[in-house]
Amino acid sequence: MTDIKCIGCGSVLQTNDKNKEGYITESGLKKDEPICQRCYRLRHYNEVQEVSMDSGDFLTMLNSLYETDSLIVKVIDVFDFEGSIIPSFNRIVGKKQVLAVINKIDLLPKSTNTSRLVERAKKMLKDEGITANDTIAISALKGKHLDELLKKISSMAQGKDVYIVGTTNVGKSTLINKLLEDNTGLKHVITTSNVPGTTLGMIDIPLGDNQTMYDTPGIVVDSQISHFVKASDLKFVSPTKEIKSKTFQLNIDQTLFIGNLGRIDYTEGGSNSFSVYCSQHLTVHRTKTTNAYDFYSKHFNELLAPPTIEEDFLTSNYDEYQFDLHGASDVLISGLAFISVAKKAKVSVRVPKDVNVTVRPTIFKGVQ
Ligand code: GDP
Repeated sequence: MTDIKCIGCGSVLQTNDKNKEGYITESGLKKDEPICQRCYRLRHYNEVQEVSMDSGDFLTMLNSLYETDSLIVKVIDVFDFEGSIIPSFNRIVGKKQVLAVINKIDLLPKSTNTSRLVERAKKMLKDEGITANDTIAISALKGKHLDELLKKISSMAQGKDVYIVGTTNVGKSTLINKLLEDNTGLKHVITTSNVPGTTLGMIDIPLGDNQTMYDTPGIVVDSQISHFVKASDLKFVSPTKEIKSKTFQLNIDQTLFIGNLGRIDYTEGGSNSFSVYCSQHLTVHRTKTTNAYDFYSKHFNELLAPPTIEEDFLTSNYDEYQFDLHGASDVLISGLAFISVAKKAKVSVRVPKDVNVTVRPTIFKGVQ
């Protein structure tokens, strides 16, 4: 172990164990800006190296936040709301001010009503028992609303330290990089990737006199869809550009498959329109509900791929949700898709076990 931190992910550099975080060769350590082997590979070859750090370590690190007098900036992935919630967040945060940042809004169609989105997000946070003092919707990647974010941070922090927290993959590192870039011209200081768990240690960035911003490690939570997909196939599931909807006119007893990770059965209602918002790489297939079982068994790693999955989750290892939708609603499959249903309906939704599914009144204009 050394006292030196990797400038990519913040983990403490060490030369002993290749499989543990912070590994660097002796010669790498002598360089001016040392970077661990994992970050090096990620940057130069876009290749991921698994390292072991359990969620206990992550929680211990986050628990140290409890002792601080600081502002907490909680970053949430608009496309994976449930997967963005940190377990025992309130306990970690105590009575600190919290700014909720809904990130990746560039993924939403232009027709999205952002103020409605923020209202719904506030309500969902409240349902999770999280009280945010303020909420803002941004795109870290596209630099949208970052000035507004900085203003809010500065007025809420009042000179205190700022901790950026969130589960993995919500965009914390991208956000900090963007803020650094805007403020200092430094680019890509922190390693970012679409693979969970990039930021392993805490990264501290001086904000000014006696004020510091910290990028904290992300916790991997079980409800994240990434658990069911190989790291190399995540790019098919997580959208990277504005999501376009595919609309289907459905009658009851019809089923939609979203890739091989989501199934929605229309069980009660009249002729209805279902708009599926998901990654451009996923295919959506319609079948009769009576044929759905056979269809999935036959096609789950063929017609319904990508991604390629380890087992037929929707037959062998799934959760099923029933919803009674009273009006135009969005069914949210965390990390996978929004399904906007135009009218009153009863639906049944199947997802790999522990992936969350929730419902909100629609945030898409036009679909009313
Ligand atoms: P972290 O684990 O929270 O630090 O997440 P990263 O910053 O590494 O980002 C995870 C993935 O989300 C990367 O592929 C980023 O390019 C992507 N990402 C981050 N912010 C945004 C955003 O505002 N919009 C979009 N479309 N993608 C984003």
